[in-house]
Amino acid sequence: MTRDLVIVGGGPAGMAAAISAHENGVRDILLVERNECLGGILNQCVHTGFGIDYFKETLTGPEYAFRFIQKTRRMPGIEVSLRSFVVHLTGRKVLTYFKPGRLETVRARALIMATGAREKTREMIHIAGTRPAGVFSAGLAQKLINIEGLLPGKAVVIVGSGDIGLIMARRFVLEGARVKAIIEIQDTVSGLVRNVVQCVEDFNIPVYFRHKIAKVLGKDRVEGVRVVKVDGRFEEIRRSAFEIDCDTVLLSVGLIPENELIEMAGAAMDKLTNCPVSKALNNTSIPGLFVCGNAYKIYDIADSVSRDGALAGRMAAKYLKGIR
Ligand SMILES: Cc1cc2nc3c(=O)[nH]c(=O)nc-3n(C[C@H](O)[C@H](O)[C@H](O)COP(=O)(O)OP(=O)(O)OC[C@H]3O[C@@H](n4cnc5c(N)ncnc54)[C@H](O)[C@@H]3O)c2cc1C
Repeated sequence: MTRDLVIVGGGPAGMAAAISAHENGVRDILLVERNECLGGILNQCVHTGFGIDYFKETLTGPEYAFRFIQKTRRMPGIEVSLRSFVVHLTGRKVLTYFKPGRLETVRARALIMATGAREKTREMIHIAGTRPAGVFSAGLAQKLINIEGLLPGKAVVIVGSGDIGLIMARRFVLEGARVKAIIEIQDTVSGLVRNVVQCVEDFNIPVYFRHKIAKVLGKDRVEGVRVVKVDGRFEEIRRSAFEIDCDTVLLSVGLIPENELIEMAGAAMDKLTNCPVSKALNNTSIPGLFVCGNAYKIYDIADSVSRDGALAGRMAAKYLKGIR
């Protein structure tokens, strides 16, 4: 089967791309999403802080997503395929995806990848020590609390001061846990100022700048962390170490664009950022293959992701007009 436009990923980027392509005349659009519903990461972001720029309103993540879901569902030229996991992509824009009980193949005249990003893990920042239970990425902890209704721990140390970690610091306190410290290797926070004020300062959570975790302690479950001060070259300062008792370590140390499918298709990639290399914004080295949202570059706010998706949708529509 050949479709005019296939979009992979039903988060804010993918939905904005589909809507914009439809508004620009494309009438045969397939939006493929591996989850059971559209919305992407926004579904687990139950805090407010979305839509201030785009809608001039303060919305929660699901409220923000819902506006785009409604619009997507109302456009007759957009077919949404949920529980559809794309596992293969060729340079000729042929996609293979799993749906429950079957394997589908589709060729796209134009293709937009809006596959989002994944969180960096403990292994990527080299924290020494044992490998006990209780070390989570901040986004995973967010999913456990907000979607599954599970509290991952009661005494928490957060590594890194990215937005997800700051938001989760407040969430853990609101759920009755103690957040003992945020450990940041740089001398400033990496998250947005509004999150520093609303999530850290308002809850009196101590932040240790120019510090890092030297070691995770504990055998079966995290029992604590050894923290050490670092100098201007991020090297440990001797005799500066101290320990904090905790049962949970959260990592909020950045996101990596999820672009393995684009790489599989043979697009030129920047190995450092895991982003496609191209001469024009939102393009790749493969004609007619576009990329948007966090897969294209890590954005701070969803509003910027929606604008980026809309731009990719317009580009794909223009490309399709050009090849007819
Ligand atoms: C924990 C967290 C908290 C945040 N808090 C805020 C905030 O308070 N305010 C704000 O403005 N922004 C916030 N953001 C940022 C914002 O949510 C993201 O920038 C935005 O969701 C990124 O949109 P996206 O569409 O690029 O990616 P995503 O929302 O991640 O969507 C990508 C979609 O692609 C799908 N997908 C991926 N691979 C495949 C595949 N192979 N096959 C099929 N489907 C696939 C995924 O299932 C997912 O649904 C937060 C982000 C995170 C992670």
